[in-house]
Parts: sequence; C-alpha cells; structure tokens
Amino acid sequence: MNITELARRLKIPTEELKEKLPKLGFDIGKRAIQIDDRVAQKVIGVWKAYQKRERLALEAAERKSKVKSEDTTEESESKGEIVIPNKITVHDLASKMDLPVTRVIKELMMNGIIASINENIDYDTASIIAEDMGYEVIKLDEDEVSVSKEQERRQRLEGLLDEDKAKTQRPPVIVVMGHVDHGKTSLLDAIRETSITETESGGITQHIGAYQAEKNGKLISFIDTPGHEAFKSMRIRGGLVADIAVLIVAADDHVQPQTIESLKIIQEEKLPFVVAINKIDKEDADVDRIKTELSEINLTPEDWGGDTICVPISAITGKGLDTLLEMILLVADMDDAKLTANPDREAVGTIIESKINRESGSIATVMIHAGTLKQGDQIVVGNTYGKIKNMRDWKGGIIEEAKPSTPVSFLGFKDAPKVGDILEVVSDNKEFKKKIRGLKGKKINDNIDHKQSGGEGKESVLNIILRADVLGSLEAIVQSLEQIKSEDAKIVVAKRGLGDITEADVLQAEAIDAIVIGFHVKPNQSATLMAKNRGVEVAEFKIIYELMDLLKDKLSKILKTEIIRTELGRLKVLAIFRTEKKGMIIGGKVIDGIIKNNVKAEISRDGVLLDQGNISQLRSGKIEVDKLEKDQECGVKYEGKPMVEEGDILNIYQETERQKTLD
Ligand code: GDP
Repeated sequence: MNITELARRLKIPTEELKEKLPKLGFDIGKRAIQIDDRVAQKVIGVWKAYQKRERLALEAAERKSKVKSEDTTEESESKGEIVIPNKITVHDLASKMDLPVTRVIKELMMNGIIASINENIDYDTASIIAEDMGYEVIKLDEDEVSVSKEQERRQRLEGLLDEDKAKTQRPPVIVVMGHVDHGKTSLLDAIRETSITETESGGITQHIGAYQAEKNGKLISFIDTPGHEAFKSMRIRGGLVADIAVLIVAADDHVQPQTIESLKIIQEEKLPFVVAINKIDKEDADVDRIKTELSEINLTPEDWGGDTICVPISAITGKGLDTLLEMILLVADMDDAKLTANPDREAVGTIIESKINRESGSIATVMIHAGTLKQGDQIVVGNTYGKIKNMRDWKGGIIEEAKPSTPVSFLGFKDAPKVGDILEVVSDNKEFKKKIRGLKGKKINDNIDHKQSGGEGKESVLNIILRADVLGSLEAIVQSLEQIKSEDAKIVVAKRGLGDITEADVLQAEAIDAIVIGFHVKPNQSATLMAKNRGVEVAEFKIIYELMDLLKDKLSKILKTEIIRTELGRLKVLAIFRTEKKGMIIGGKVIDGIIKNNVKAEISRDGVLLDQGNISQLRSGKIEVDKLEKDQECGVKYEGKPMVEEGDILNIYQETERQKTLD
C-alpha cells in the first residue's frame, strides 16, 4: 500500500504519519513510498491506542498549565524523579511514588483507564499519571538494564580478583580504539608482524583474538579486535577488557564522531590511554591540526602543556611504533599497582572470542586475568562448561599452562560461550557438578542456535544475520525463509535489522558461524574489512529469489546423510574352517540372491539376530571371486566377533550413504 493511502485512511497528513511511524515501532525509513500491506494493517491496529495516549498526554499538559496559571503565587514544586521502565505494574508505580495503590487506580480511572493492582501499564500512561501527580519521570531504556547487569557481572569478577593476596606483576592488556579507517587494524597488524619471527610468519594460519608483543624485555598483550562495537559487547557481558587504551586518530583526517565515542568509553572505563596520531607518512598529514582538535575535546597534548600523551606514527611505514610501545610501557609503569595478579590461584578470565568450527566444535579465546590456566582444567563460562583441551598460544603452539594477561585459545566447551563471558576454573569436583547443575536450569546460549554438523538426532541449523533496506522486504524475506525447510535442517534468522551491515553484525556472525545477508544494503567499509579478515561470509542481493537460491543451496549442504540398506542375499553356514581373534573363515552355500565382496552380514540363529559384521574375501573353490550366486558353495571371511556357528544364516546386505534433500 502507498504511504499516502495509509495516511488518508488514518486521516492525517503523510508527513505526519512518516514522523510518527518510528514512535510506533515501525521504522520504514524516511524515503519509503510503499508500505507492506501486513505492516499497514498493524499500523492501523495500533493507531487508535496511540492517538488515545497522545490525547491523554495533551490533556495532562493542559491540566498542568491550568494549575500553574491558577496558582501563580506558589511555585509548583516537583516531588522528585522516578524511573519508569517500558512497562510497570500499577502496584510498582504506586510504590515508586509512595502513594496508596487505590489513589493511582483512581487517577488512572479519571484518565479513562481501568487497571487492577497487578496489571501492567505502558510507559506513556504511567509517565502521564506520575507527572500529573507531580513527579519528574525518567525513562529506563533497555541499555540501562543491560548496564546494570554489566555492573553486576563486573562486580562479581572484581570480587573474584580481589580475593587474591599474593600478587605479582603481569603484562598490561591494550585495546586499540578510534574512528573507522583511522588505522586500528593496520596498527594491530603492524605490531603483530614485528612480534613474529620470520620462521613463524608462514606457520601462523589463524589469528586468535589477541597477541603479545615484547618491548625492552617486557610483554604487552594486545586485544586484536579493533572497534568499539567489539569492546561494547565484551563490556556488556561484564568482562574486563583492557588496562590501557590506544586512541587512534588519522593525521590526514579529523577527530571524528567515533573518536569521541571511543574516548567516552575509555573515560567511562577509567582507562589510562595514549593517543596515536596515525598516517603521518601521508602527504596531507597534519599532526598539529589533530593536536588542536584534541585540545578542543580536552585532550591537550603533553608538548602543548597538557597531560595527553600523543605519539605520531605510521602503521604502514612502522615509524613511531617503537615510541608508541615505550609510551604504553610508561603508562603501565605509572599504574603498576593495578597490573598485578596472583598466578597461583584457579584461573579467571574473560572470553574475547568464540566461534563454532565444523571440524573441532567450539573454539574460544580467553584473556586470563589471574591464576594459571592449565590443560585439563574444569571450567565454567557464562552458561556453559567444559574441560580445557588443545590449549594454544597466540602463535598457534600447544601450551600446557598460561599465566595472567596471556591470551590463549582452546577447545572443550559443551556450547559456544559468548564474548565477554567470564571464565572460572573450578577444580573441586563437587563444586563443579553443583555449578553445572545450576547451569542446566538456565537456557543455554539464549536464543541463538549454532550450525550443527549433523550430529545424530539434532537438527542442523544454518544461522543467518539479515539486513534489508525497508521493513516490508525484511518481513517478506523472513516469511519466504519459513518455506525452506526439511525434517532435520532449518534456517535461523539470528538477528535482523534495517540499514547497512555493521562490524557488530560481522562479529556476531563469526561467533555463531552465520552468514550475513544484505538485501539492497551493503556492509560499511570497516565491516567489509573485518569480514575479510575473519573469514565471515557476507552476501548481498537485490532479488529475493536469488537470495533464496543461495540459502537453499547452503542448507542442502548441511543436511544430514542417510544410510540406505539394500538386501543382497542369504548364506547358510555349513562349516567353520578357522576362528581368529576378530573374525572367522566360513564355508557356506548361497541360499538366496547374491553375495558380493566387502558387504555387511547379520548373523541369524533360529530366526534371532545375534550380531553383525563384514564379509570379505569370497572364494569359490580355490579361486577368489567378487560375486557368488544362488546355490553356489563358497568360502568367505567374516569380520566381526567370532560367534558364527554351523547352521547359522548370514543375511547379506549393502549400505550406501545418501545426502538428504530439502522438502
Ligand atoms: P580501521 O578501520 O581503523 O581498522 O582502519 P584500517 O587499518 O583498515 O585502515 C584504513 C585504511 O587506511 C587502509 O587502507 C590502510 O591501508 C590505510 N592506513 C592505515 N594506516 C595507515 C598509515 O599509517 N599510512 C597510510 N598511508 N595508510 C594507512
């Protein structure tokens, strides 16, 4: 349906409708002309309630201004602030305002709303009532909720680390942040390269999410995930991320929005930091301009009388990298009391990378904060658990143990943990079992399925992250996807959204082994690079059926195989010539069908199936043959438990594997 048509039906101007749609939760974009019919119906459905809320708000505002104008002598005084979430029960609202519930119910009734004590009312209604009663209302959004969860987890982790008494020095952990294209990846790559010897450089096939560099005989650990999106996801799960930040700004550009956003995160985390002014090799580089802009955001460089350490560098030529590392060590030295940990306790760390790999299952990278992690350690991480197997350092070498501030990757989880989850070693068996029992009550891995490699009984899942330009297309694609299915494989849209593909999409796709699909949208530049570096598949489409074709093809490939059994014939056992440890040489006669070489056989005695094995080496007389027919007498080798007896019947059959197909 045309937007204008919908506006006409709702009796409002088109522009006003476009403005109001996002408030109603329908973000169709400013330039959209069409709206999906089903979405239009939904808008019509919620419109009345929305109008009512608006009317109530207006009436409340009018009442307020009336009261004010009637009472000009006495300043109307706010009773204070209250925080209201998206939904709140009448009871909770009353207790926030410290009023009897009956008073709130009455006030609601006066506004035309009938609600009982335990009924939920939405934010708009609650805020109108609260404001009417003299409170200032602050809306609690989802982010704030996760922030409080984050704080809770963080406090727990800090509590775990605080238990330590005997602490020794550990390397600092560094994170690089800054605006897209200012050179985060290049800087991390350049430092990593200098830390790898020539013989190693060919051998390292896969980057893990962190590495270590050495300067003046001291180690420095780098988190190899640039960008604040990654940082945010770690923080949200409560993990500790880094000790020191490098804020990178390109000398040929300016301080940009993400520079400021990164700085905000750095300041919130109270991280000491160094500014790297990058790309000084470029012709249009202007270090002074960047310093001026830094001063404007209260980061006055040291050489200009401030206290911000600024190091001009080039990630491409390597200029200034040594100084940057030295400055990092200097900052670390200033804060060395914090850079300590007890290596002699059970290890505690934060998951900085997690993925599912077809061959080896769940692989995770952890940054150890305290304690020493050892092969075979029992661990509990977020909602999953396991035993450390195949522990490797960042260069890919197998190691037996890892000390604080060391990043290591390992296998051994039951399910993939999440980036930012806290890892704890639990050596005590009883305690470990207790924790696992606790986890089993929780829903493992929230709502996100992982691609399965076709294990027995489990449905194979193809995860996708879907982005489109308009809501109508997004919904149409999701609906079409529901039609592609089979008994044991399905497509799961792990995340959907409007607009360009972002770094966060790529990171999430990597974690859950998903494909990122864009419909009439593209990945932004840094998402493209990140996807390339991390081997995440990103596919863009303009036509839905082409998108469907790709997904059908992918899903077919992860379908399980089935075993087809074909009956060949029956052999009556006439004699046992020889019995070996794992088989027998048998004399017999084909009583039905045929027998071929290298097939399967079931032992049947008096109509009861006893066991099964394989048939090899067919002989007719003294000659080896490939096939025997009905009534032929023969000698065969039975491979299996040597339990065949004279008089048994061997049912001979062949098994072939067949790939299942989509319904
Ligand atoms: P990120 O988005 O912050 O990770 O930025 P990248 O590291 O991907 O760099 C963006 C672009 O800038 C790439 O084309 C790099 O090759 C280029 N670049 C990064 N650092 C330098 C530098 O020091 N000098 C020059 N000339 N180019 C650089």
